[in-house]
Amino acid sequence: MNTKWMSKGNCADTNPDAFFPSDGVGVEIAKSICESCPVVSLCLEYALTCRINHGVWGGCSERQRRRIRKERRQLRPAA
Ligand code: SF4
Repeated sequence: MNTKWMSKGNCADTNPDAFFPSDGVGVEIAKSICESCPVVSLCLEYALTCRINHGVWGGCSERQRRRIRKERRQLRPAA
């Protein structure tokens, strides 16, 4: 999977610990950094595809990504 976009993210020059917060305030701070990130969509899709369960990726918390994955599963046509 192509990860060249990672170097263009707002977090490239930020302490990575900021994206693995231990409380809700930390999550909001990380999400605010993602808000103006030029690769936010790529980052979110990467985290969803790779099933990354920890941290803030693509402007979404762990809980938000779980919800998106669940919604996508429900939208999938039955085989
Ligand atoms: S969306 Fe957030 S976590 Fe992803 S590359 Fe941008 S700043 Fe980093």
